[in-house]
Amino acid sequence: MPEKLKLNVPIDVSRSRPWKGIVWHHSATADGPGLNWAAIVRFHTSYRIDGQIVTAEEFEKRLKLNQGKSFLKPWKDVGYHGGTEWANGQVVFHWGRPLSMIGAHAGVKGASNQFNEQYLGLCAIGNFDIAPPKPEHWDFNLRLTRTFMEAFQIPASHVIGHREVFDKLGVPRQKSCPGSRWDMDLLRSEL
Ligand SMILES: [Zn+2]
Repeated sequence: MPEKLKLNVPIDVSRSRPWKGIVWHHSATADGPGLNWAAIVRFHTSYRIDGQIVTAEEFEKRLKLNQGKSFLKPWKDVGYHGGTEWANGQVVFHWGRPLSMIGAHAGVKGASNQFNEQYLGLCAIGNFDIAPPKPEHWDFNLRLTRTFMEAFQIPASHVIGHREVFDKLGVPRQKSCPGSRWDMDLLRSEL
């Protein structure tokens, strides 16, 4: 049995919501050699139309003219509570929105917001529809997950992939997130 390693991430449970679970995501973007987390923060805190950042002026104009399908105003903070990525040859962790704040990562329009309210959101940068996470990234994500599980007494069965949110709500899967090559059963078995 390999040792169940954790990460040394300080978590103040007294200033957090009572998280019942964890939802893993991927960015579905390439993980470049430098820091990519800042781009995700910028994306979530910008005006967006159909997945593209636009200015406030363009947003208002196109909203009036109904030019676009998905209109999102800037969020207060990045939608996830944390993320992992390769940066300059090693895997690193970034904090996202505070653990006291409900997430903006697992809501299902017309169905439920319960997974934003009860499950914290973590995002691994990369596109895991193309290939699974590299072993070092996978291992890092395992360690990080164990750290949050221990802090909040979360069972492995409550560690899910974004796509499994749809299953739990009984609606068709709208995403493959955290990637079709990311095996959630394997992740849970290794926690
Ligand atoms: Zn996702």
